Amino acid sequence: RVAGVAAGVSGLTATKCCLDEGLEPTCFEQSQDIGGLWRYTEHVEGRRASLYPSVISNTSKEMMSAFSDVPYPEDFPVFLPNARLLDYLRRYAEHFRLQEHIKFGITVVSIRKCSDFATTGQWDVVTEKDGKQTLHIFDAVMVCSGNFYEPSLPLHCFPGIERFQGQYFHSRQYKHPDVFQGKRVLVVGMGNSGVDIAVEASRVATKVTISTSRGAWVLSRVFDHGYPWDMVFNTRLMSLVRNSLPGLLSRGLVNYKVNQRFNHENYGLQPEKSCLVREPVLNDDLPSYILTGRITIKPGVKEFKDTSVVYHNCPEEEPVDIVVFCTGYNVSFPFLEEEVVKVENKHASLYKYVFPTHLQRPTLAILGLIRPLGAIMPVTEMQARWVTHVFKGLCQLPPQSVMEKEVNEKKKNQVKRFGLSYDEVLKTDCIVYTDELASFIGAKPSVLGLLCRDPRLALTIFFGPCTPYQYRLGGPGCWEGARQAILTQWDRTLKPTRTRV
Ligand code: NAP
Repeated sequence: RVAGVAAGVSGLTATKCCLDEGLEPTCFEQSQDIGGLWRYTEHVEGRRASLYPSVISNTSKEMMSAFSDVPYPEDFPVFLPNARLLDYLRRYAEHFRLQEHIKFGITVVSIRKCSDFATTGQWDVVTEKDGKQTLHIFDAVMVCSGNFYEPSLPLHCFPGIERFQGQYFHSRQYKHPDVFQGKRVLVVGMGNSGVDIAVEASRVATKVTISTSRGAWVLSRVFDHGYPWDMVFNTRLMSLVRNSLPGLLSRGLVNYKVNQRFNHENYGLQPEKSCLVREPVLNDDLPSYILTGRITIKPGVKEFKDTSVVYHNCPEEEPVDIVVFCTGYNVSFPFLEEEVVKVENKHASLYKYVFPTHLQRPTLAILGLIRPLGAIMPVTEMQARWVTHVFKGLCQLPPQSVMEKEVNEKKKNQVKRFGLSYDEVLKTDCIVYTDELASFIGAKPSVLGLLCRDPRLALTIFFGPCTPYQYRLGGPGCWEGARQAILTQWDRTLKPTRTRV
């Protein structure tokens, strides 16, 4: 019996993978519906991620097919507005009858080891519904509660904010741009939320400034020759090139590629430490909005005054009416003891970002606590497939010392001699990571093996986009539609745009 916490993307795939392996899942969802962060609500709700209505996926539908055995319908747009993504999640849940295993309106309040944990690996799970608590015992737990609901609002980093007389709020509170009508707006932080909000604000505000201390690469969803960025960027060939070249060359290659459309330095966007790659910002409008003066880029905030802001290295004050802190989110698991999962500096020490390293029995896993350079959904699905294999005893974890050594190495975040290095521990190359987990369960595709048996498929896998169906070609959980799904991936991509026949 496996307990799942939350029925968002990770929770749904976790429930489905449990069923595939003959485990008995019960997924506790505190709200009344599935979808997690992809279910838009007009009001910000308790411990739930909060979307603004205009959010569109950053990764394309073929690459983010969370669920590698159910492609998106052909007529869905290539990048998905949040409502279409939720629609897909609903279809998926219906297809595998996942709703029967989800208990709605129930909050998990604590997960503790049973007294005989060392022998049974079981967990006491306390849930709450309408103020009434219930204790359940489960053989294993999958935590799928996400990490975008607890805003990080480090006001201590912004001297003078207490005397600032304008309005300020965290991006989690943002829904519609009308609040910016006729105002001078400052957006702090250049992540994807910051840039999305600045672009929307600039259509109604008198002035919009983004303050960024580190800068970022800004990519367009529309990439080379108009193809989706991730279908060009995340191929096995590109991944091999990126990860095999010496670090300097690999970074040079990426620098060259991302500066082809516009020179980041000229637009004030150049990332601060080019040796460590940070999550790119996906935005098609920002460069042209900078060029047309609708958005101005400034360095980090030095201090706030009564009605203005002063930036580092800029002597003059800039008047501001509204500040939006797009400063990201903290990671927390309030229902778990610190002894089980300790979060430090937004990072939990987990083997392969999934398993705590020090438990006597590997019966608790955290899903989705990773930010791959690419789509998250296929990654969490592969995590769930691996985790269910570990729960069943079909896969073993290495000894504690080996896992700890690897986790500690990752924490150091050093610049590697070969390939790209990432600026935060949670960032990783999605193909390398997913391949590794797939190899643990025997689902990693062998391009060389396929070359003799099915050369067309092998070449499509190697040179084409690394779509998730590749991990369903063989091994446990293989899907007979996988080959066809790979060979028709471009048809589904082009169908919604080639509409003028
Ligand atoms: P984020 O990516 O964590 O970015 C937060 C930014 O806040 C940092 O990059 C930094 O920007 C700034 N910051 C953090 N601490 C700071 C401090 N102490 N002082 C000053 N600035 C600080 O957060 P997010 O943009 O909310 O995104 C969260 C996740 O949601 C990301 O994975 C993102 O890709 C995703 N997302 C996706 C979409 C989409 O799919 N369309 C839309 C929005 C968000 P600087 O270094 O620039 O100063």
